[in-house]
Amino acid sequence: MTTPKNPTLEAEKKKQRRVAMTTTCVKCGEALIAPDWSEFVSEQLVLNLWTCTKCGDRFQTKTYMPPDAEPKMSQKDWEEMFPPLLVA
Ligand SMILES: [Zn+2]
Repeated sequence: MTTPKNPTLEAEKKKQRRVAMTTTCVKCGEALIAPDWSEFVSEQLVLNLWTCTKCGDRFQTKTYMPPDAEPKMSQKDWEEMFPPLLVA
């Protein structure tokens, strides 16, 4: 893990943690906080792509959202909540 250059981005990652979920690297067991990329496949299925910060292994997880968990999020809401990395 490198030293964070952008405190705002770190704050966003913490926010993301609430919605997305942590996972552990399938290879080395390193705890990963936020996926590299999340994609809404459907209202209830989210694909998360992860890159391990320790060993660099890449894998994906699927998250099934309970139907009553959150109101439907549009892509726009998602982007507002998780600004693209170019916001620096
Ligand atoms: Zn790993």
